[in-house]
Amino acid sequence: RNDLDRELALAWLRTAAAAVERQHEELTALDAAIGDGDHGSNLRRGFAAVVAAVDALDADATPGTVLGKAGSTLISKVGGASGPLYGSALRVAGAALPAPTADLTALAEALRAGLGAVQKLGGAAVGDKTMIDAFEPAVAALERAAFDGFTLREASALAAEAAEAGARATIPLQARKGRASYLGPRSVGHQDPGATSTALLFRALAEAVTA
Ligand code: ADP
Ligand code: MG
Ligand code: MG
Repeated sequence: RNDLDRELALAWLRTAAAAVERQHEELTALDAAIGDGDHGSNLRRGFAAVVAAVDALDADATPGTVLGKAGSTLISKVGGASGPLYGSALRVAGAALPAPTADLTALAEALRAGLGAVQKLGGAAVGDKTMIDAFEPAVAALERAAFDGFTLREASALAAEAAEAGARATIPLQARKGRASYLGPRSVGHQDPGATSTALLFRALAEAVTA
């Protein structure tokens, strides 16, 4: 598979939902350390609703429609910060993907726009110890891979690795946005839950592309 079509968009979201289902306790434990201990349960509820919502879409839905529906579902089902942030990212990315298939360049552009929506809504930059710390390097990896003429499979694997490295790199940081910022220096030494779930979402894309 070298393009994002409706089936791959659906497979991405289903793979993500399964990964959240497997790892929600770990995400919640990370959030218990520097937040309010609900990140795993927020995403679990959100992605269960996402799978139900996108499964109900018409067979002629575009990948953009699928991602957009996932986004609006997260916004309406997840009360925490991550719901509106991931939801906006998916809605904006979906709006940028109106064609039946999108190549790697189009996917990278759409996810860059989605990242922009998170930055606009949450006001965080790289280094603030948020999901941006995984999201930005993942998008940059996709852009580089597109420029270098890599396949979607290679690109999505590189993006997942970049997101995982970005998530690990949040450990020594002090949070400057979100609930963890209330802890000040006590947020140092813990991996950010949102950056961790972003890495999980990019790993899910890589797995769905390979499957
Ligand atoms: P809440 O903090 O409302 O309980 P969650 O626990 O679901 O929401 O999500 C917390 C995650 O959201 C954080 O780990 C962080 O990655 C992300 N986050 C919080 N605030 C922001 C922000 N302003 N910009 C980007 N990401 C943020
Ligand atoms: Mg929380
Ligand atoms: Mg909360």
